[in-house]
Amino acid sequence: MSPYDYDLFVIGGGSGGVRAARVAATLGKRVAIAEEYRYGGTCVIRGCVPKKLFVYASQFPEHFADAAGYGWTVPEASFDWPTLVANKDREIARLSGLYQTGVENAGGEAFQSRATLVDAHTIRLEGEGRTVTADQILIATGGRPNPHAALPGHEHCIFSNEAFDLPELPKSIVIAGGGYIAVEFANIFHGLGVDTTLIYRGKEILQRFDIDLRHRLHEEMVAKGIRIRCQTIFEKIEKKADGRLHATVNGGEIFIADQVMLALGRLANTEDLGLEAAGVELGVRGEIVVDAFSRTNVENIWAIGDVTDRVQLTPVAIHEAMCFLETAFKDNPTRPDHDCIATAVFSQPEIGTVGLSEDEAGRRFANVEVYSASFRPMRHTLSGRQERMLTKLVVDADSRVVLGAHILGPDAGEMAQLLGIAVKARLTKDDFDRTMAVHPTAAEELVTMYKPSYVVRNGERSA
Ligand SMILES: Cc1cc2nc3c(=O)[nH]c(=O)nc-3n(C[C@H](O)[C@H](O)[C@H](O)COP(=O)(O)OP(=O)(O)OC[C@H]3O[C@@H](n4cnc5c(N)ncnc54)[C@H](O)[C@@H]3O)c2cc1C
Repeated sequence: MSPYDYDLFVIGGGSGGVRAARVAATLGKRVAIAEEYRYGGTCVIRGCVPKKLFVYASQFPEHFADAAGYGWTVPEASFDWPTLVANKDREIARLSGLYQTGVENAGGEAFQSRATLVDAHTIRLEGEGRTVTADQILIATGGRPNPHAALPGHEHCIFSNEAFDLPELPKSIVIAGGGYIAVEFANIFHGLGVDTTLIYRGKEILQRFDIDLRHRLHEEMVAKGIRIRCQTIFEKIEKKADGRLHATVNGGEIFIADQVMLALGRLANTEDLGLEAAGVELGVRGEIVVDAFSRTNVENIWAIGDVTDRVQLTPVAIHEAMCFLETAFKDNPTRPDHDCIATAVFSQPEIGTVGLSEDEAGRRFANVEVYSASFRPMRHTLSGRQERMLTKLVVDADSRVVLGAHILGPDAGEMAQLLGIAVKARLTKDDFDRTMAVHPTAAEELVTMYKPSYVVRNGERSA
């Protein structure tokens, strides 16, 4: 008989925590989970899900405009922000309920409470004013937007959390950041009719993505009417008597807007969690340090998802949860595999990508072939929209293995999911060539680019 109340206690009811708790319960383990805010975590409540719903909402003006070329007359459209927010809230409430009941129906106990560690086996349920004990503890407390507290006037700014629930849609917004969250919100707000400026300190948005996609997306966003200022940094934000915000950047220029949003990275939720009391080691960025199996330096305490600051994506947190269960409860030590993760940026146009960028491949491989096609997707022919699509394969010329696949254009995220299988399986360019095209689609370009557009030898592009 175990001396503990539970076999497993999970702190944090987001993507990773809920998956671990639910599946552990189905294995017959005595499981409890605590969530301090809302079950579903960042992804469901203020991340992937509401973001994608907002992306859909923001795409309608282009659909309405494109319809004319196909013979449709669309009466003047109007948009109601409170309706979108309310409908989004209804959907995330539904999903949040499913997350909680999923654990309960599997036999786990789901607490609505903040949980902190008292020692390596004892957890305080702050909301209930009591402690419980567990054999194994899994920390899945996720992260939160970096408040950028060193920026004078940061208290006047919003972050991605607030952007989902603004009482009214601003007329203008300045967004700081060059990562996918900043880029996606710039497109969302612009699509909803907000005068949008994106400020980024780096040379080009979306660092670490393939350079051609970064440049091309930048151009397309500017063509749509989004102002993008790279190599620009906020120096201070001031709120004026009229309620508007004045954002001063390096060089002295001032951007005036109704809202300023900071999307400058995320911090791990590790404060006041009792980690010191339990002896859990933290890294330099405040993240929980784990080994290859997601175990902390304390034998029975594990951590997964954003709180470990490995790869901050929902499927990664879920994958880490499943590997943790194999290791901790099935006597099958399993390392999460972080190699070759397909991902999307829900910008407009969208990015779908997997594997090595051209630059990264050039650093790692002596002979790289790049197959690239830029074309107007068929759906834009009758609409008259000038936007072009970009598909790109990065291939190791020696082994013929496709190292990376990168797409900019409609449904690129959907394509990346399937390309992810091919690239993960280390299929060769010859496998792609032997694959019959699906016609007429945009994706068929991926199997019909027979000749390299150029080669990269020892990191240098040549014809
Ligand atoms: C705006 C935005 C858009 C995103 N879009 C995408 C996307 O399109 N695709 C994608 O894959 N990923 C996306 N992500 C990232 C994704 O949301 C995260 O990687 C994922 O949610 C991480 O899951 P997690 O379980 O580690 O943590 P979370 O989902 O953050 O869950 C942690 C939970 O722990 C709770 N918690 C914290 N401390 C305690 C405590 N002491 N006691 C009890 N509960 C606690 C929190 O309230 C939270 O609910 C996005 C993130 C953001 C912010």
